[in-house]
Amino acid sequence: MSTACAPTDRRLVRPEIASLAGYTPGEQPQEGVWIKLNTNENPYPPSPAVAAAVAAAATGRTLARYPDPLATAFRRRVADRLGLDPDWIVCGNGSDDLLTILVRTFVGAGECMRVPTPSYVLYRTLAGIQGAACEEVPFTRDWALDDSFAAPRDGLRLAIVANPNSPSGTLVPPARIAELADRLPCALVVDEAYGDFADADCLDLVRRHERVIVTRSFSKSYALAGLRFGYAVASPTIVEELRKVKDSYNCDTLSIAAATAAIDDVDWLTTTRSRILATRARLTAGLRSLGYQPVESQANFVWCTRPDGRHREVYEALKERRILIRYMTFPGWGDGIRITVGTDDEIDALLSALRDIGA
Ligand SMILES: *Cc1c(COP(=O)(O)O)cnc(C)c1O
Repeated sequence: MSTACAPTDRRLVRPEIASLAGYTPGEQPQEGVWIKLNTNENPYPPSPAVAAAVAAAATGRTLARYPDPLATAFRRRVADRLGLDPDWIVCGNGSDDLLTILVRTFVGAGECMRVPTPSYVLYRTLAGIQGAACEEVPFTRDWALDDSFAAPRDGLRLAIVANPNSPSGTLVPPARIAELADRLPCALVVDEAYGDFADADCLDLVRRHERVIVTRSFSKSYALAGLRFGYAVASPTIVEELRKVKDSYNCDTLSIAAATAAIDDVDWLTTTRSRILATRARLTAGLRSLGYQPVESQANFVWCTRPDGRHREVYEALKERRILIRYMTFPGWGDGIRITVGTDDEIDALLSALRDIGA
């Protein structure tokens, strides 16, 4: 008896899935010592309140029970902070889970989703899984969105903008997002995975525009990428619909306890954020002095290019020195490198390796 899959087995799968390339996340080496600047993780440990909350939630019979399906404790806290009612909040197993829920809620097979490019590549994969089209509207050369992003189109059901955007780190001003939301014939998701590092956000817009939905992540600013927690802010009517689509227990007891503790530790966030922003300024200046062309970032990473275009070689040369950054290429647009803001020591090591690699 053979356990190997015959190549014909793929025909058992929906054709939309079989033809999908699949999303490839950044490398997560499981062995060896690396300076890891490739997936925009926070270089600092999370608030100590997180470990305490997890330990407390892991005692007694708590884990024998299912979690609160609506993560009420967390929603109350974040709603207080934002000055909203908890029925404006829905939680997810990371913001990727919320993006999946949103795409499944709004976009049907044969319909269409719109995103800018270059941006977060997962959006296209989520459309593909739905059997929907994904229209990519190029950013202008200075990372703005022109009016074509709001143009009408048959079957257009959802638009998603990462803001700040990845890989550029740039921000579309909330006033411009509001204009686009007014013109678009569909819902607009503003993916604020990096919102805590930026000068402005679109949380206020959600109140004023029924069609605007904001998603937030605990993976970057709260240093909890390994925990998997995020939330979306949307009008209560939309939240009700999203609840029908999400798994009942998409957030577990430990992550709800941890995220609630994390969001209560305001001082931790303020301190960590200002450290990262200070290092971001050093990284940007250091890159510029080495002849790179960094884009001014509103996130915890910096996108840059070199006049000679040798981006892949720089990525490879750094990898040999056990420093991981992200090399990215966007068909029809070009390529470049994205560097996560690490600790000051990590960024010193990176800049000295780049100096070493030279021209
Ligand atoms: C990292 C990232 C996410 C995913 O965040 P998780 O909460 O870890 O799922 C979503 N959107 C963008 C643009 C990201 O960079």
